[in-house]
Amino acid sequence: MTMASDPKMIPQSGLLSAEANEAAALAAFGGVLTVDLDAIIANWRKLEKTAVPAECSAVIKADAYGCGAAQVARALHKAGCKTFFVATIEEARKVRAAVPEPTIYVLGGYFQNTGEHYAQINCRPVIGDLNELAEWDVFCRRTGWNGGAAIHIDTGMNRLGLTLAEAQAIIPRINAGDHGITLVMSHLVSAEQLNSPVNAKQLASFRGIASEFSGVPAALANSSGIFLGAPFQFDLVRPGAALYGVNPTPEADNPMQPVVDLKARIVQIRNIERGESVGYGGTWTARRPTKLAIIAVGYADGYFRAASSNDGTRGAEVIVAGKRCPVAGRVSMDLIAIDITDLPPNAARRGHMVTLIGEGITVDELAHHFGTIGYEVLTSLGHRYARVYKGGNVEEPLTLPSSAQAAEQPPSPPPVEQPASPPPLPS
Ligand SMILES: *Cc1c(COP(=O)(O)O)cnc(C)c1O
Repeated sequence: MTMASDPKMIPQSGLLSAEANEAAALAAFGGVLTVDLDAIIANWRKLEKTAVPAECSAVIKADAYGCGAAQVARALHKAGCKTFFVATIEEARKVRAAVPEPTIYVLGGYFQNTGEHYAQINCRPVIGDLNELAEWDVFCRRTGWNGGAAIHIDTGMNRLGLTLAEAQAIIPRINAGDHGITLVMSHLVSAEQLNSPVNAKQLASFRGIASEFSGVPAALANSSGIFLGAPFQFDLVRPGAALYGVNPTPEADNPMQPVVDLKARIVQIRNIERGESVGYGGTWTARRPTKLAIIAVGYADGYFRAASSNDGTRGAEVIVAGKRCPVAGRVSMDLIAIDITDLPPNAARRGHMVTLIGEGITVDELAHHFGTIGYEVLTSLGHRYARVYKGGNVEEPLTLPSSAQAAEQPPSPPPVEQPASPPPLPS
């Protein structure tokens, strides 16, 4: 684990040893979020192996589902990943600063006057509308830029993408060559449901149209789609959530490794009498003399208020001194009360860390208590944790939000590649 005492990151005090300084720096935070880059790499390798001979890309939109797009891109690129997907040009810019070589697609599509941005950082729009395509063509013709673009075809999501008829209309262009289209893709509606009839329907539609894009690589599968079998894998797969440990096969055991560990600090231990209530609204009442641990994380940190408990309903659990203990009362903005009455005396003390995610508490379990899916748990992870990256062969000092600007830069920023002339046409 790298928690390097970088003097730029951790304020030094002449009064304390280096260790005490680091401990003091960590104590400035209510929680510590650890992202295991080796686990992300292992998950990517597993998906790659499942999809071979298809290429395995990585979807790192929304700051790599809250795990840190720059760190994840660097680690996966080192592991051999050559293609990344993000949602916006701004996300692409950050990823490009971290990894100069790989292909980056922007799922959000093309907007007028954004061509220069695409060219500047050498990334590719995922075009999902004929107007976008026309505007992109104008930009490319005017500037001679030929960095490539993907065509997104809608096969049932009715979100982004050309209709099948619109896609059909551009086949002559594909056949004429010199088309600048580097990928044709669609997106699955219900891939996590093995037996959904929508899967086969989308597969048939996509297979038909993709086969007419001769010579253009095709991509359909997200994380769950990879596990629907080889016919869904085409030339490239686009996993996101599974990389970060979310179960892509909710009807079966999770084949992925957990990636995120979240710990929170106990700021106070208190004892209350039977009949006393806890927290806002007094919705939870002690049924026995009760010992509480108050921890310094709340809904502002992405620990949803939906995980609260009351006299009628159990809420989420956290692990204190190796044992599961329930949330007592409402989750508040910065604090949560935990019922630790069943722990041995003195097992938990002020300053100890408790585990909110990890030690068997999965992102999917929390999602259940939050009334959502693992995706939203991850993308909601707060921004006031101390962030620690381990593994990935990437030296990452402890990242403090106050120095976020500095931390976003790679240790020695590689130059962004700016091709002087457009890259050669894809054949
Ligand atoms: C987000 C996204 C993915 C990744 O989906 P997961 O379910 O997280 O694997 C793939 N393709 C597209 C178009 C997406 O928007």
